[in-house]
Amino acid sequence: MGKNTLNLNGGLYEYLLSVSLRDDPLQKKLREATDKLEWGIMQISADQAQFMFLMLKLINARQVIEIGTFTGYSALVMARALPEDGRIIACDIHEDWTNTGKQYWEQAGVAHKIELRLAPALETLAQLVKDGHSARFDAAFIDADKGNMLNYYEYCLKLIRPGGLIMIDNVLWGGSVADRNINDDDTNAIRATNRFVYQDERVDISMVPVGDGLTLARKR
Ligand code: CA
Repeated sequence: MGKNTLNLNGGLYEYLLSVSLRDDPLQKKLREATDKLEWGIMQISADQAQFMFLMLKLINARQVIEIGTFTGYSALVMARALPEDGRIIACDIHEDWTNTGKQYWEQAGVAHKIELRLAPALETLAQLVKDGHSARFDAAFIDADKGNMLNYYEYCLKLIRPGGLIMIDNVLWGGSVADRNINDDDTNAIRATNRFVYQDERVDISMVPVGDGLTLARKR
């Protein structure tokens, strides 16, 4: 005991949630609606969202980039962590998914903080750099197609300020990253990103075993 991260089994995860998850009816409703969708499993867990909320609060984030908005759950929670004049540039290509999110953003009164960009995220990110927004953002959340994970990371590193935070989702990929017999493109792309970020001296890092694994990288 003490040297390894605890296994959250045998009711321990339920205990953790029972004394730490501060849920909200609207967030719960969106989670449940998303769970019913074909790709509902892509949604981040409620405790991970709360962790990200806290991270944004800790760094006083005002400007955030989200890559992979899906049905808008993480954008909803992150927007609530931002001040009234805060802004999330939310990147996705699936309007049917983001339309779900929009309804909830409006109900929560945070829609004015979320600027949806329906285009391939690499195009949106390149445009932000071109428009002179480098080092203007406080944080980024990367949670989209895994083949581009490293490209998204590079753009985000450019767009956030020194001291800003990049959060990369799915870095443990259901455990696949540690299984040598699994060598599909997504798993390999995640492994490559993990190795790269590990050796990247431009950032301070921690890989947090929350949800499906979340890397925190703070720009030096
Ligand atoms: Ca994810």
